[in-house]
Amino acid sequence: MLNLVLFGPPGAGKGTQSEHLINKYNLTHISTGDLFRKNIGEKTDLGKLAQKYMDEGNLVPDQVVIDMVDDKINSTPNTNGFIFDGFPRTIAQASALDSLMAKNDTIIHTMLALKVSEEELMKRLLNRGKTSGRVDDQDEAKIKIRINVYNNETTPVANYYSDQGKLNTIEGIGSIEEIFNNLSSIVDSLA
Ligand code: AMP
Repeated sequence: MLNLVLFGPPGAGKGTQSEHLINKYNLTHISTGDLFRKNIGEKTDLGKLAQKYMDEGNLVPDQVVIDMVDDKINSTPNTNGFIFDGFPRTIAQASALDSLMAKNDTIIHTMLALKVSEEELMKRLLNRGKTSGRVDDQDEAKIKIRINVYNNETTPVANYYSDQGKLNTIEGIGSIEEIFNNLSSIVDSLA
């Protein structure tokens, strides 16, 4: 199996690059943001619970996210591997992910961290908000909250992987293809 964590602030290009990585390496995509949006669309209890946090730009409580990821892993047997996108976002989630991987006799092989400046993120997200229909992309104040949450609660997750010798930082500004090639070379070097 090949299990990757694609890391970076909101608007770094994780969704776009995930699509390319999934195709190239035949992986299963686990985007916690997408899973919550699906639940909101289907008006499930999980969706109702998550929505209030998401609308404010805050993180959904750890255990809720961890249980959802656990379910998704369990419902995907016989995969080549997983690409985790938007997860883990806290140290508690990172440590839970290690346990989930161990339970499945596997590990996280690497973290690919996309680096993009805050001005660029704000531009990209406001732009995405014009077409994505995502309320959390349409308001500058909400985007600022999400970037602050990322800086305060999520950046320590990079240190968690760095301590395990698994952190790879990639410049997230450039053409989609150029960034994808840089990500692929790191993944290929794992083989
Ligand atoms: P995203 O699509 O990854 O930008 O996520 C959108 C929103 O979903 C976030 O602002 C959080 O409210 C929630 N969310 C997604 N993933 C997580 C996670 N791993 N932990 C907590 N909240 C999350």
